[in-house]
Amino acid sequence: MADATGVAEAMLGLDGFRVLEVHESAAEVVIHIETDACLVGCPGCGVVARAHDRMVVEYRDLAAFGRPARLRWDKRRWRCEEPMCAIRSWTESSPQFSARCVLTNRAGAECCRQVGRNARPVTQMAAELGVGWDTVMDAVREHGEPLVDDPDRVGEVRALGVDETTWLSANKDHHTLFATGLVDLDRRVVIDVVPGNSAHDLGSWLDAQPHSWCEQIRVVATDLAESYRAGLDGRLDHALRVADPFHVVRIANRCLDQVRRRVQNQTLGHRGRKRDPLYRIRKLMLTGTERLEGPGLERMLLGLRLGDPDNEVLGAWVAKESVRDVYLADDPADAALLLDKTIEGCRLDEVPEIGSLGKTLARWRTEILAHHHTGASNGPTEGLNLLIKKVKRAGHGFRSFANYRLRILLHTGGVNWPATTPPAPHIRTRSPH
Ligand SMILES: [Zn+2]
Repeated sequence: MADATGVAEAMLGLDGFRVLEVHESAAEVVIHIETDACLVGCPGCGVVARAHDRMVVEYRDLAAFGRPARLRWDKRRWRCEEPMCAIRSWTESSPQFSARCVLTNRAGAECCRQVGRNARPVTQMAAELGVGWDTVMDAVREHGEPLVDDPDRVGEVRALGVDETTWLSANKDHHTLFATGLVDLDRRVVIDVVPGNSAHDLGSWLDAQPHSWCEQIRVVATDLAESYRAGLDGRLDHALRVADPFHVVRIANRCLDQVRRRVQNQTLGHRGRKRDPLYRIRKLMLTGTERLEGPGLERMLLGLRLGDPDNEVLGAWVAKESVRDVYLADDPADAALLLDKTIEGCRLDEVPEIGSLGKTLARWRTEILAHHHTGASNGPTEGLNLLIKKVKRAGHGFRSFANYRLRILLHTGGVNWPATTPPAPHIRTRSPH
């Protein structure tokens, strides 16, 4: 097309609309539009309607060539002239515009993709389009909720992961608020997020799931939280319960950190500082021995010799390594032997933190060893926790749990995103050889 309105309409790309005028400023592009409807039947009786008057309604559309775009739609009002008809007048509508939202449908869908799928901050989208925070979040809800509620999003789940995440950090009004994430470990997607981390929170979520869905679950992996164990009791009894290896190793790492901090404080009288021998090796100690090279190992042993007079930190390190060894064993019987030795060693240790690690391991012995019978890895849960953290960073603290849940599920919930326009063909750059 060569004429100016034809060009403008091609760029606008809204079927059934004509461009009347385009104004531009440095801040935005304003496109004045109307529908191309000239002959309209009454929705009630079908008699040809008469044009009545007009009203201008403004919408925000996707940014055009780097500037926010405003559509100024000169909406027609129609009147039915049939005296017997109940309908008197109506304003035209279009599936490309929602009556409730200031954003065009395609701009709303893009907000949902950017904030949901790409975990971009709502404020960023709002600034880009030239609308308020609430407008963008409303669009994310309007377009996102059906995607999250889609029954095809979560299919049959064989391995269910239950994992705690922090929802809100403590502040002056509340202590840390936790949430429980339910994860499909095979597909690596978050099925749901519920507020709280108590037995009741997990239990009522499970009770709300269809019985047939629960029956498909073969394995449930949790962290070492008694509340989750209690929440599972009497539910999913047919499934094998596994302690998530990542969390098992993490409690051993925590024990090591606790002992190191205490010894640090007792020997030097202050918290770790950059030059303190134990502080300097804190990361080396958490690294698996098989990944420690000669100089690293020597540096660690030197740090221990200088900062750990009673070999307490060394003891915790040995305990941590023995826990890791349980997972290096392939054979279930070998793993059981290694775990029992670890538990026994921890129990005999005089260091209180190590003793309590032993008790925790003993309480979860069955679930820890169950890992070797499933071969299931719990890598996915941790990976998903990292994605959840990304959503949280983008959110800068959530006030609404519903928004938090929606954005996590849009980002990591295996949503079937509606197909958009086909990918644009690449433009090849002319790079010098
Ligand atoms: Zn009518």
